[in-house]
Amino acid sequence: MSRQRTVAQNYVFCPICGKGKIIMENPDSDDVPLRLILPKSKKKAHWYIKCTVCKSQIGIAPKN
Ligand SMILES: [Zn+2]
Repeated sequence: MSRQRTVAQNYVFCPICGKGKIIMENPDSDDVPLRLILPKSKKKAHWYIKCTVCKSQIGIAPKN
């Protein structure tokens, strides 16, 4: 995976298609314990985001 040095963000890619950039993350921030939840998972997500490429709804939940 190539990194762009001019942009201060990394991307978390869609776990379904691997192409959609679903979240921008700041590489300098502390590790945030978040978990991605796939649409078929029975786990409850706290937030939902939609992949712009495959339109999958990805859940996000705090990891604890
Ligand atoms: Zn996707």
